[in-house]
Amino acid sequence: MFPSSEVEAKKTTLNLEMDGGTERIVQEKDDLRPAPVTEDEGSSPFAQTGAPSASNNDSAGKDAEKNTELTASSEKAPVTPAAPAWKSVTVGKGDTLSTVFAKAGLPANLVHDILASNKDAKRFTRLHKGQEVEFLLGSAGDLQALKVKQSDLETLNLNKTAKGYVFKRDLVKPELHASYAHGRIDSSLFAAARNAGLPHGLTMELTKIFGYDIDFALDLRDGDEFDVIYEEHKVNGRKVDTGNILAARFVNRGKTYTAVRYTNKQGSTSYYRADGSSMRKAFIRTPVDFARISSRFSMGRFHPVLNKIRAHKGVDYAAPTGTPIKATGDGRIVEAGRKGGYGNAVVIQHGQRYRTIYGHLSRFAKGIRSGTSVKQGQIIGYVGMTGLATGPHLHYEFQINGKHVDPLSAKLPMADPLAGADRKRFMAQTQPLMARMDQEKTTQLAMNKR
Ligand SMILES: [Zn+2]
Repeated sequence: MFPSSEVEAKKTTLNLEMDGGTERIVQEKDDLRPAPVTEDEGSSPFAQTGAPSASNNDSAGKDAEKNTELTASSEKAPVTPAAPAWKSVTVGKGDTLSTVFAKAGLPANLVHDILASNKDAKRFTRLHKGQEVEFLLGSAGDLQALKVKQSDLETLNLNKTAKGYVFKRDLVKPELHASYAHGRIDSSLFAAARNAGLPHGLTMELTKIFGYDIDFALDLRDGDEFDVIYEEHKVNGRKVDTGNILAARFVNRGKTYTAVRYTNKQGSTSYYRADGSSMRKAFIRTPVDFARISSRFSMGRFHPVLNKIRAHKGVDYAAPTGTPIKATGDGRIVEAGRKGGYGNAVVIQHGQRYRTIYGHLSRFAKGIRSGTSVKQGQIIGYVGMTGLATGPHLHYEFQINGKHVDPLSAKLPMADPLAGADRKRFMAQTQPLMARMDQEKTTQLAMNKR
């Protein structure tokens, strides 16, 4: 029912180079711009004889629609244009909105006026080197409009109206595509991911998703493989960004791990294995399979052996003697032995905060002793009735920062598998993703063989 001994869980913390971390979008500034209009080749056989710089000297009317490539360096004496024309200034190192305005031949006080006229206009002051600031200048050299492309998805506009300057943000809604990448490791994960065309950010995401199963610092081997289906944002067919990993498969030392992103009916999103079990290695809820809860957590109850009222700071699972008991989370054993009324008991420390206690064991599993590490789902001992017990059962306690909490409470970081309607829905979404990975991989391998 639960991820059990198959699961080799270990949460790893990585210190990976973050070099490409901020590469998002910045690389292709000109994506959205319409392809530069070439000379009107069709209309005249002589068009190509024009001087290369002809476009700068064209009548303003003709250029009104396109971005003239006038940069700050070309400081020609402004010929008074007949109609409003766009003028583009590239932001240089140390430029501010004022210096950019100056390069466009606009007075410094205009920047002040604009910023004062509209609170959103402040966004224009956040300029980056290399960015293009476009000015629509009227016949008198006055500012009619201002335009700055922030990213492939966002352009800021300021337009002069009768009421003053009006700010407008143009947002492009990208189309979402599910893209596929396949990689095979022969030096490092990052090299393989780069070769597969997977952006750095998604590679980091991949290590996070599988971080509970694979220790990316120690476990990776040459020949390990991965398949990823991820969201790609496109504008006019051109890739502008990536989104989430939708599904992934990682083969590490011959063992296959799967992950599928799923948002449940309550709206919370998590990654699950393709079989619907949770990837999140917090705690499995129940340390004994097929057991009956014979006593719940309570702050006061009558104790049949001690014959007095006593709090029951755990949950009892009645099961036949010898039933295996599993560690509910990864951790280190801090006690394994005789422990008063608990009888044979195991105490596991999970990270800094959590501790679980298992009592009344008939015996310990092989290798279970103080100081050893255990994995989630690993069998640590067997149900018995040692210590203060009236019948065979497991007494299970859960502590957070030394305080007892009800292990059945919903507040604990549990790792339950999907069930019921969610499981059905998950499976319906997962199967096509898995099928696509199989198909894409086969196609890619066949292409590589040619
Ligand atoms: Zn108990």
